[in-house]
Amino acid sequence: MPAPKAETIQTEVCIVGAGPAGSAASLTLSKKGIPHLVVDAEVFPRNKPCGDILTTGVLRALNQIDPEILTEMKQKGLLNPIWHTLTYPPNGKPINIDFLPFDGKKGEPGCFSVSRREMDMLLVNKLLASGFADFRQGFRVTSLKKTDPGFELCSDSGEVIQTKLLIIATGSGNSLLKQLGLEIPKSESAIGIRGHFEGLDWNLQETGLFLHPDIMPGGLYVTPLPDGTCNVNLVMSLNKVSDAGISLRERFDSVVKSIDVLNRKFTNAKRIGNFEGSMLFLGTRRRIVAGDSYLVAGDSAGLIEFFSGNGIPQAITSGRIAGETAISAIENQNFSAGFLSDYEYKLYQKIKLNYAGGRIVLPLLHKPYYSKLVLKFLNFLSGRPQTNAMLRDLLYEKNPGKILRKPGFYYKLLFKREPVG
Ligand SMILES: Cc1cc2nc3c(=O)[nH]c(=O)nc-3n(C[C@H](O)[C@H](O)[C@H](O)COP(=O)(O)OP(=O)(O)OC[C@H]3O[C@@H](n4cnc5c(N)ncnc54)[C@H](O)[C@@H]3O)c2cc1C
Repeated sequence: MPAPKAETIQTEVCIVGAGPAGSAASLTLSKKGIPHLVVDAEVFPRNKPCGDILTTGVLRALNQIDPEILTEMKQKGLLNPIWHTLTYPPNGKPINIDFLPFDGKKGEPGCFSVSRREMDMLLVNKLLASGFADFRQGFRVTSLKKTDPGFELCSDSGEVIQTKLLIIATGSGNSLLKQLGLEIPKSESAIGIRGHFEGLDWNLQETGLFLHPDIMPGGLYVTPLPDGTCNVNLVMSLNKVSDAGISLRERFDSVVKSIDVLNRKFTNAKRIGNFEGSMLFLGTRRRIVAGDSYLVAGDSAGLIEFFSGNGIPQAITSGRIAGETAISAIENQNFSAGFLSDYEYKLYQKIKLNYAGGRIVLPLLHKPYYSKLVLKFLNFLSGRPQTNAMLRDLLYEKNPGKILRKPGFYYKLLFKREPVG
């Protein structure tokens, strides 16, 4: 018997990847009542290695798409409020930063932790409920070919998609990017592993970042989750890991042992399940994210903040802007590179500050001399009571350059020894 002929699906817009970026693009199209196709290689709920932190930027980005999303997450008990973040330099004395309430509303947390498995499932359910998304799970796109108009995509099981506009939101996989000549190089990537632990001695309202010379440039992050377990993830520069042949699994254990304060917290900790790993494409420079009949959103566009490892806010924002650009391309029936370049411009306006930090600081942190200097400086800051309020102001300032250009900032930070603000 001849093999059944594989299906050919035709659509105006196809979104590949249903993480936060792909879901945000889909929900934006659905708000305008535009039918579209979304495919994902995995079957949801799926695991996604992440630090599971939702910063104020995520809360704002979600509210811009649909305030119901946050309300539903709260009602379902998916969110754990986070009020402080502690950075531990090698001397083990934490630098604390207290978070401000969301939009100045007393008692309303501006930061949460969440299980990505649950959050991404909720977003997928939302896009399914919209009635405008044709969602195919377990559908891995393996190749793409430029056609006129649009793209022809093939899946690993032989299905074909013909689309006028392609939105790539495949996270930290390089395979489709490579076919478009947009591969993100190792030097601009990090790699992380994440494990879940029970019995870790940890305050449920705070996250921690542990810095140590053996993991620079990088860090070990601890996030308490709503179910009382902790997410512990180690992220390091990919170049460093591959050049030095580092096993992240072994480095995780050795670093936990060599940081006294962390080792004590791990005394009764037991890992649940396996470690899982993923790459992080860092926001170190402006990239090509739009071209003839395609847009690139989320991690695929290389948008992760190099210091915090945060990428969910940028994923949702870029997905929304990609969705809005798709709407106007469909209305104008114009999918040309020139028309779609509006996306690149708008995204750059939103994200450019991240690029500046990554471009300047990251190469320095690869040099042992500077990375030691940074750790020494953080050791020094950890003893100073003014850091909490001063660093918090810096964190919340839309244009941190405004603060960093003032000599008074350095005077207060370096020479005063009293709380400010
Ligand atoms: C260790 C670690 C810690 C992190 N911690 C944080 C944090 O605390 N806070 C934060 O904001 N960010 C964090 N990030 C970054 C954050 O996880 C990402 O920025 C975010 O998941 C990006 O969303 P996305 O939609 O672009 O990609 P993803 O969430 O990765 O979704 C991509 C989707 O595409 C699908 N896909 C991939 N290839 C194909 C294909 N060929 N065909 C079909 N489907 C495909 C995948 O199955 C997946 O579902 C962390 C990342 C790592 C690795």
